[in-house]
Amino acid sequence: MTDLSGRDGPRDECGVFGVFAPDAQHEVSKLTYYALYALQHRGQESAGIAAADLGGHLLTRRELGLVSQVFSEHDLRSLAGDLAVGHVRYSTTGSNAWENSQPVHRSDRVELALAHNGNLINAVELHSELREAGVSFRSTSDSEIMAALLASHPAERIEDAVAEALGRLQGAYSTVLMTEDRVVAFRDPAGLRPLVLGVLPAAGDAPERYCVASESCAFDIIGARHVRDVRPGELISLSADGIETRQVVSGAREAFCLFEYIYFARPDSRMNGDVLQAARGRMGEILAREAPAPGGELVVPVPDSGTPAARGFARASGLPQDDGLIKNRYVARTFIQPGQELRKHGLRMKFNPLPEIVGGKRIVVVDDSIVRGNTTRQIVQMLREAGALEVHMRISAPPIQHPCHYGVDMSTREEMVAHGRTVDEIAAELGADSLAYLSLEGVYEAVRGERGRHCDACFSGDYPLRNTDGAQHKEAFERELPLVRA
Ligand code: SF4
Repeated sequence: MTDLSGRDGPRDECGVFGVFAPDAQHEVSKLTYYALYALQHRGQESAGIAAADLGGHLLTRRELGLVSQVFSEHDLRSLAGDLAVGHVRYSTTGSNAWENSQPVHRSDRVELALAHNGNLINAVELHSELREAGVSFRSTSDSEIMAALLASHPAERIEDAVAEALGRLQGAYSTVLMTEDRVVAFRDPAGLRPLVLGVLPAAGDAPERYCVASESCAFDIIGARHVRDVRPGELISLSADGIETRQVVSGAREAFCLFEYIYFARPDSRMNGDVLQAARGRMGEILAREAPAPGGELVVPVPDSGTPAARGFARASGLPQDDGLIKNRYVARTFIQPGQELRKHGLRMKFNPLPEIVGGKRIVVVDDSIVRGNTTRQIVQMLREAGALEVHMRISAPPIQHPCHYGVDMSTREEMVAHGRTVDEIAAELGADSLAYLSLEGVYEAVRGERGRHCDACFSGDYPLRNTDGAQHKEAFERELPLVRA
């Protein structure tokens, strides 16, 4: 399959949303639809919504495709209710792709629908433990393991089941689930993946209605207000009794994903009290300070993800900036293979360079990250063919050299262009005249964050969770039992 949806960068993981709004004229499915629409960048393989009337049965619709393709007006009418959860997913494709779409719906002891972003590193153990206890599975996703654990739990209240399970789930999980009468959200004790709490404007005398989402951009689209982050190790329950919060695990080492600031999250989302567009601009400014490009005449962003950093680089270096690369914005996945002739002539599906802008100039190209390097190599070549005299690459993140075990699909270590190469060797591999990366300290300065409270393992190899090594060693075992990640 030719992937035109982005670059050869890390794959976005998943996006989740949940809302409890019994007085919203049964519009919870529409609220969820638009929230998922805003979270589409976090996953383009499948989308799903589960909804229910208070005390009623849970209805779930999930399908492969984009949010706008999966749901019709009719679907959303049939999902009318008082509470809902939703999910967008990136997953590896395969025959079981539909089974692994979410929300996962289970009716063991309790009926629930669950949407998860992350990756359980002890999924294999939990899976065999539950199977031995007689629990059966329909999919190979670690999200279904979590759903089965909670739906079959003997605790009377779902909140107590979650509180007990939180001690047994290892890895990354920002999760939203619903039962017939409540929405429950919880985040792993390290807070690896984002999860935020929002509030919808009250309707008349009705109480405030809360919602939770992977990113605050999901609140803006539906007119909700961003209240705060769901804290690492915290459980939030939304029901007719109002909002109940419980700090289930405290004092754990926090490890929020540094890559969310650099690339994954939308630039209009807020994290750590800052809008990401501004943080990414600072990354570009610091990059210009750490790695100026002497002799450079023009800053060219790799759109769209490199644009805020390019603006910052241009601001700090005093160089002009222009759009020398135009991105085709209306791209989706296609199954049509280009064929030899088109390949030979360099298929310009994602980017088209403008000779009028880059011709005869020494240009500084700013991007946010490089994983395998295939796209960067093509960009450098295209810009040279368009007449650029020199191409200097500046990257607003450190080199990616280690895989992520916390829910982000990166390439294998061997496929990463920075693996086992010096920066000069990478520059030669990419065909660039020079290459420089932002330092890890530079990223922390830009996001105004502390290293001890974040995960930067894909850059540093420093995995913040115990047992991550164990998860790596289990890869062979997991090939026998291929667990699909959320
Ligand atoms: S390894 Fe990288 S992508 Fe994965 S959670 Fe850590 S910082 Fe994020």
